[in-house]
Amino acid sequence: MNNQIIVAIDGYSSCGKSTLAKALAKKLHFIYVDSGAMYRAVALYFLRHKIDLKDHDKIAEALKNIHLNFHSRDYETHITLNGEEVSEEIRQMHVAESVSAVAAIREVRLEMVKQQQRMGQTKSIVMDGRDIGTAVFPDATVKFFMTADPKIRAERRYKELLPKNPQITLEEVFENLAHRDYQDTTRIESPLVRADDAIILDNTDLTPGEQLLFALSRVEPFL
Ligand code: C5P
Repeated sequence: MNNQIIVAIDGYSSCGKSTLAKALAKKLHFIYVDSGAMYRAVALYFLRHKIDLKDHDKIAEALKNIHLNFHSRDYETHITLNGEEVSEEIRQMHVAESVSAVAAIREVRLEMVKQQQRMGQTKSIVMDGRDIGTAVFPDATVKFFMTADPKIRAERRYKELLPKNPQITLEEVFENLAHRDYQDTTRIESPLVRADDAIILDNTDLTPGEQLLFALSRVEPFL
């Protein structure tokens, strides 16, 4: 019997999707894939190579030269871009500022979705992102849609970024999240939207432990 399980976690920026996805994958011994890291790595490549986001020939050519790989160490996301470890650099603000525009490009999405679907072909997987339950795995076993108060989200992300970016301000983080949410929900290609069958998880007042228990209770019936 094929007991492969796919858990799709979508939601707004900085809602704690990856924290929950990681914890769930660890608990269930599933593979964890942070799809946002892939879009961030593509955005980093485009920045470094000064790719004009309106030049579709250049974009198609660039995509052929981008090779992404995940190597998992204790469920932390480690991603390489053409062999170079970029896991830290893709979290910086210059990448966060350009990633949503890059992720709105049709050619970029087609290529990323193809790679993501390949990752979920054989093994049980938890994948987080914006279109996992709608476009990547519309038949996922369980789908969650995460949301939280925007101020709380900005505070959480600010605390996370501050140690490595001492110059950063809370306002800047808040603006970036609002901007990305706007771009992600209004783009033409696979906008961020809750799948009809996704379970809503508002974690404004929930601890990571409580979120994990809730998610486990929804996945366990399929184990
Ligand atoms: O999840 P994370 O915040 O790292 O994602 C970075 C950006 O990548 C998002 O703001 C969104 O624009 C894009 N993204 C996407 N589809 C996904 C995952 C991320 O468009 N499945």
